[in-house]
Amino acid sequence: MYSFIDNNSLYTYLKLIQIKIKNGPRNYSNRPRIQINQQYRYQKNEKKSNWYRCTNRLCGTLFDPNTLKINKIQHYHPPMTQCEIDCLLHFKTVVQVIISDHDVSIADAYNNEYQKLITKYSCEELAEFWKPFSSVNSNLRYHRNKTKPINAKETKDIVINDVYSKINNEQFLQFDNNNHSNRILIFMSPIGMKILANSTRWHLDGTFKTCPTHFHQILSIHGYYQNQMFPAAYILLQNKERETYIEALTEIKLILTSNNIQIKVQELLSDFELA
Ligand SMILES: [Zn+2]
Repeated sequence: MYSFIDNNSLYTYLKLIQIKIKNGPRNYSNRPRIQINQQYRYQKNEKKSNWYRCTNRLCGTLFDPNTLKINKIQHYHPPMTQCEIDCLLHFKTVVQVIISDHDVSIADAYNNEYQKLITKYSCEELAEFWKPFSSVNSNLRYHRNKTKPINAKETKDIVINDVYSKINNEQFLQFDNNNHSNRILIFMSPIGMKILANSTRWHLDGTFKTCPTHFHQILSIHGYYQNQMFPAAYILLQNKERETYIEALTEIKLILTSNNIQIKVQELLSDFELA
């Protein structure tokens, strides 16, 4: 196949890729916002900031979402059907789930929304506006990959983005010292905090074998509560120096007190030597 490409077009192609890389992926939040009013769809007009223009390229109707008024030009085409609008909105939900919850597979996110539509419309009606999975799969995959962090080559490359710093929409990453020679990350959910708040005995557990790259160990803190042991906090450490443990545990204490939690712990147990 490639033998058909002459040097000139190959050069142009390479230049195109270069430009793509330079510009980087488009920021999702910067994309034109879509407005639906009276069953017509508008997108943000770059030139006149207040106005949104009809998504039908040949139509000159403008819409101002602040005043809910349109300009003097009437739409020359029929409005969207409710089915078309619902398909658009449900597809938007698919994208939202895909970028914000990486535990849901792309196919499941797509099917979940389709299941909702199928209760309201027939397959024939939907076929006109709801694109088959095969034609949107790669686009959806693009959205997911864009929100996935890059594989870190060095400690300084490790960036915990919004998707990974939250769990069930609640803060999970509680501390990142951003020290590239001795990085410490502390993950703890609000439930984890409650567990530690209510237990007088904490167990420290060090995992060395299944630790992510760039780290030396996962130190987990379990709380003994109502005769049961619960995992509550996960700390990623790059070494097993005494000072590192002290910094991490001091930080745990600070996180809890800054969340108005009074620490009741009396015993700190560990199955490994805390240097
Ligand atoms: Zn129009």
